[in-house]
Amino acid sequence: MTQPTPIRRVACALAAAGLPVLPLRAGKVPFGNCRACTGNACGGRPNMKTAGPCTCPAPCHAWAAATTDPHIITSPAWAPAWAEAVAVAYHPGGAELTVVDLDNPAAIAWARENLPATRTVPTTRGQHWIYQGAMPSANAVRPGVDIKSRSQYARWLGPGTGRMTVLPSAVRALVVREEATPARRGVASSSPRATWDRTVASGCRHTERYVRTGLERGLSIVRQHTETGAGSQAFGVARFLAAQHTTCPGPCGLDAIGEEIVAATVSVGVPEPYARRAVTNGFQTALERAA
Ligand SMILES: [Zn+2]
Ligand SMILES: [Zn+2]
Ligand SMILES: [Zn+2]
Repeated sequence: MTQPTPIRRVACALAAAGLPVLPLRAGKVPFGNCRACTGNACGGRPNMKTAGPCTCPAPCHAWAAATTDPHIITSPAWAPAWAEAVAVAYHPGGAELTVVDLDNPAAIAWARENLPATRTVPTTRGQHWIYQGAMPSANAVRPGVDIKSRSQYARWLGPGTGRMTVLPSAVRALVVREEATPARRGVASSSPRATWDRTVASGCRHTERYVRTGLERGLSIVRQHTETGAGSQAFGVARFLAAQHTTCPGPCGLDAIGEEIVAATVSVGVPEPYARRAVTNGFQTALERAA
């Protein structure tokens, strides 16, 4: 047994109640994989989508490290992570739960119209709606809406209020299974690929260099995420890049920027329909925020 920290104490209480927990570091993200597991070289933890032989004693593989085992949580191997941790997360799917993460007031308004009431927890700008039942996870199923369940973690922000109800089909229907079409890693798209240049952005107030540099940076972020959701990175990159042009008279060639993000996302194994939806949702979210 190592010295408990206040955050670890919360984690232990949650684990005792059946929620698999993990520490979050600054930035409210999981601790990075240990060196031996870089690039998922070990094959991953046994409870990940791709089962593996990982026996790392320290928190590793993000949500897949989540556990209810008090011996692991209080082990010396986990102590450095707790000492540095700024928050606790839990693995909803591991507790047969689904968190509908509503990022903003518009998303909450949509949920109130379209989803059955359940337990809700306030977040920084939005709410978590928690349902009984697990399902595949997916980011950006709608503007401002993520589904966190089987392969995701959710930050613990308190027990919330309201009676938890059963996961409705309306939520299940939001997720197009990412495994539905085979990955096309390394296979070039057959459709003609648009690339961004000045000719498609005659109404953009930014320099070509500024746009191109931002785009290349975004594409490299997407390409680095073969393992942990290139689709959600595509959403974030699309949203970020579109937000740069909300005050341009236009056109800014966003279609071509979108095509480049889709191509980068498909190149790391994400099915094209999913990549397209992530980019479209990212653009839409940027425009809605600007409006
Ligand atoms: Zn490891
Ligand atoms: Zn590992
Ligand atoms: Zn522009």
